[in-house]
Amino acid sequence: MPSDGAPDPGPEYPGLLAWPQEALEESFVALGGRHFHARVAREQLLGKGVLDYDSMTSLPARLREALKTEIPLLSGTCTRRVEARDGTTKLLLDFPAHETGKGGGVEVVHIPPLGSKRGQGATLCVSTQIGCPVACPFCASGLDGLARNLQPHEILEQFAQGRALGELRRVVVMGIGEPLLNFENLALALEQVHEHMGLGARKITVSSVGFPERLHRAARTQPRFQLAISLHTPDDDQHDELIPALRGTPIDEILAAGDDWFQVTGREGTYEYVLLGGTNDSPQHAERLVGRLGGRRATVNLIPYNSTRGLGYHRPAPEDVEIFATLLREGGLVATVRHSRGADGAAACGQLRMHS
Ligand code: SAH
Repeated sequence: MPSDGAPDPGPEYPGLLAWPQEALEESFVALGGRHFHARVAREQLLGKGVLDYDSMTSLPARLREALKTEIPLLSGTCTRRVEARDGTTKLLLDFPAHETGKGGGVEVVHIPPLGSKRGQGATLCVSTQIGCPVACPFCASGLDGLARNLQPHEILEQFAQGRALGELRRVVVMGIGEPLLNFENLALALEQVHEHMGLGARKITVSSVGFPERLHRAARTQPRFQLAISLHTPDDDQHDELIPALRGTPIDEILAAGDDWFQVTGREGTYEYVLLGGTNDSPQHAERLVGRLGGRRATVNLIPYNSTRGLGYHRPAPEDVEIFATLLREGGLVATVRHSRGADGAAACGQLRMHS
């Protein structure tokens, strides 16, 4: 309680988006504002990407002044901004320690559409954990293991920061971390994204290695987003190597859990497959993948490996990527090739956490 007779703004939360709505409204009133001003501030931050109180001109000036000293707007600090030649922008956001673990940096990537589609809104790639415990040997995100899960407001702040860079059209939860290991916080954050940013289920894709139990459980919560399963190989022994956290889990179990999800959301299955030259990119791999996914109406998104210093893999030749994609198509699957964006800013898939 402040001793000078100033109104008590209530308990401390690390940022505006961490406040429960009712408590926030009460604090706004205690600071001389009205209840609805709390909603306005939240909408300005999330819906418009307004990152400072001074620019929230629809709030009374005196309230803005009070807010500046009493309620921190953001808990994370943007410590670095790197723009690649293709317009992709990577932000490094640093979050403080929390009772659940150490603090640290995560990355948010804002990917504007290319060429004539400019102005239609960008794709935002967001992170769910500080570090990652899955330890895929081709990915830089898990090099130091997991520090902690991001809190819902920390996930949301990435949306606000991304929105500040321009209109958003699509969201991919494909940054640092394994979303299914922080599913509750992610789901809470996405509810607000839905409400304040108007991004519906079809516009949000969450990528996961697909822990079967968690997938089954998550499917029952009527998720408001699409799922993409990172598969990377049709072979169980190679899967153990490429996705160590799932060692011993049969691929068929992962696929069955995915089927459960795709049935609930009424969408076709989507799988991601990072193509590692000489490792999982042979025509035989493609044929076995067709066999594994047999009968499913599925899309396989091929991601030619993006180099991550010292990880010892290489990107396949473009002809080999084409052959792989063609074999999948001949096997009745939809195959797309993800063209790397932002590589010169170290913002492409698997490069996040490599501080260029
Ligand atoms: N943890 C989630 C989200 C990861 S990012 C997951 O594993 O699904 C999205 C995709 O990029 C995943 O399929 C991931 O395996 C892939 N990826 C990781 N490192 C990569 C690299 N160096 N090159 C290309 N893709 C990579």
